[in-house]
Amino acid sequence: MDIEQEYDLFVIGGGSGGLACAKQAAKLGAKVALADFVKPSPLGTKWGLGGTCVNVGCIPKKLMHFAATLGELRHDQVEAGWIDTQVDSKHNWEKMVENVNNHIRKLNFGYKNQLLRQDVKYYNKLAEFIDANTIKLTDNKGQIETVRAKTILIAVGGRPSYPENIPNIQNLVITSDDLFWLQENPGKTLVIGASYVALECGGFLHGIGNEVAIMVRSILLRGFDQEMAEKIGQYMEEKGIRFIKGSVPDMIEATEDNKRKVTWIINGQKQEEIFDTVLVATGRVSDTQKLNLDKVGVKMNKNGKILCSADDKTSVANIFAIGDCVEGRPELTPTAIKCGQLLANRLYNNGNELMSYEFVATTVFTPLEYGCIGYSEEDAIKKFGEEKITVYHSIFKPLEWNYFEMHSGESCFAKLIVLNDNRRIIGFHYLGPHAGEVTQGYAVAIKMGVTKEQFDSTVGIHPTCSEELVQVTAVKGIDDAQKEGC
Ligand code: FAD
Ligand code: NDP
Repeated sequence: MDIEQEYDLFVIGGGSGGLACAKQAAKLGAKVALADFVKPSPLGTKWGLGGTCVNVGCIPKKLMHFAATLGELRHDQVEAGWIDTQVDSKHNWEKMVENVNNHIRKLNFGYKNQLLRQDVKYYNKLAEFIDANTIKLTDNKGQIETVRAKTILIAVGGRPSYPENIPNIQNLVITSDDLFWLQENPGKTLVIGASYVALECGGFLHGIGNEVAIMVRSILLRGFDQEMAEKIGQYMEEKGIRFIKGSVPDMIEATEDNKRKVTWIINGQKQEEIFDTVLVATGRVSDTQKLNLDKVGVKMNKNGKILCSADDKTSVANIFAIGDCVEGRPELTPTAIKCGQLLANRLYNNGNELMSYEFVATTVFTPLEYGCIGYSEEDAIKKFGEEKITVYHSIFKPLEWNYFEMHSGESCFAKLIVLNDNRRIIGFHYLGPHAGEVTQGYAVAIKMGVTKEQFDSTVGIHPTCSEELVQVTAVKGIDDAQKEGC
């Protein structure tokens, strides 16, 4: 095999983290190349450059969530005086998907252009290690070439995982890798799983008019504040989403008319039901299996996640790893991007800043959105002890919800967790409209160590939902969270 090219940096994976690092390194003068190759899903879905976020994650998810929100606002539109709005008008899946997919294709094209403009050599090829400095690249026709690099970055992300006990499951279900590219409405859908992906996808499918059931093995949103998780579940249930709790599928079979018969056991009783589609959202596995990492000595845990030090170094000195494929990192786009940029600065600009994962804000785009920063109540109690923290809480109703009386007045919720000794806010939780927009601003203050008294001295913007956070005074366990009107 001829070695064709030598690079300062070779990036494997053109997703959020890989692209960010490659572009920053090239800007700093390094000779950079990047390989991105999408292995089709078991059902054959594939997509372009940009990784999970752009093609099968954040971007299509948020656009479809927005489509659902628009539908849910039809009642409000009518009550606010819009004349031709019909509350029972149907949603056109094909039109939504066409527009979402076209937007994604524009983004794919934009990423290719950015790499070209910044002199990053792009290989649409599958990469694997030959040794710690040599990469084998294979294109979709099986053509092979080899490149060498001083430094190699692994940013291969993850792919959906499947429950192991069900025969032939990969051919009977879809995952988030397929959903956003489906050419036909999935119809009556069973979602298996109860975390980010399951609740967000189940939420928007129901919002555009589909019958949705969500099968929950244990709890909703493991790792998140459970009071907030329960409120999210209650709201979704009130909207008409059915939760099948404490169950996992026992069997999934295709019927003669190509629907899916799902069997499960609940309280010792066998249940079965026919669905048009089963969406599996039971977590993700790191996409490291075929990289030959064992051969070059890159250490992984038993799930295939790469073990890295705080400076993103793997167990091999010139090989780094960032993003979803690394053990212990949050699986979020902005953390992967920032981590990639900081790594490039350390490698090619004498930088020394390490990525900080403390107080990273996140939002779950469920029908009622949930934004949070820092500790859940459970984790704060575990870490500091119940007597060392004070929890403030407030139920509120957005002003805009007063047009349509059917909006539940009890749904929106704010919660702040405060350390008693220095009054620092260590947990921020907001359940209500536009949670992402609301939470992002507060993330700056919380990262800087803001205290409850500084929140209290901040003047709110009236009338907004966000002002609720600077007005929370009721102490959990002492005061009712329900407050008076403004
Ligand atoms: P990825 O973006 O997954 O990129 C890895 C790339 O490497 C892929 O293109 C892959 O095809 C390629 N690759 C893999 N192996 C090879 C190889 N051997 N050779 C060449 N290329 C290879 N995060 C948020 O912050 N907000 C959200 O709202 C959000 N929504 C999400 C919704 C869903 C449904 C999902 C699944 C995820 C969501 N995420 C969200 C998470 C976010 O998408 C990921 O955290 C982020 O994309 C991780 O970036 P990455 O660079 O680590 O990997
Ligand atoms: P998670 O790993 O967060 O959750 C997996 C879910 O599937 C849990 O509810 C788990 O239940 C359940 N589960 C696991 N195995 C089985 C099984 N065999 N049978 C039934 N249920 C099972 O995965 P997600 O795919 O939801 O999300 C992956 C990551 O993607 C997240 O951590 C997040 O960082 C990122 N993401 C971010 C988003 C955002 O920022 N808005 C949106 C979507 C994803 P149990 O609790 O019982 O283990």
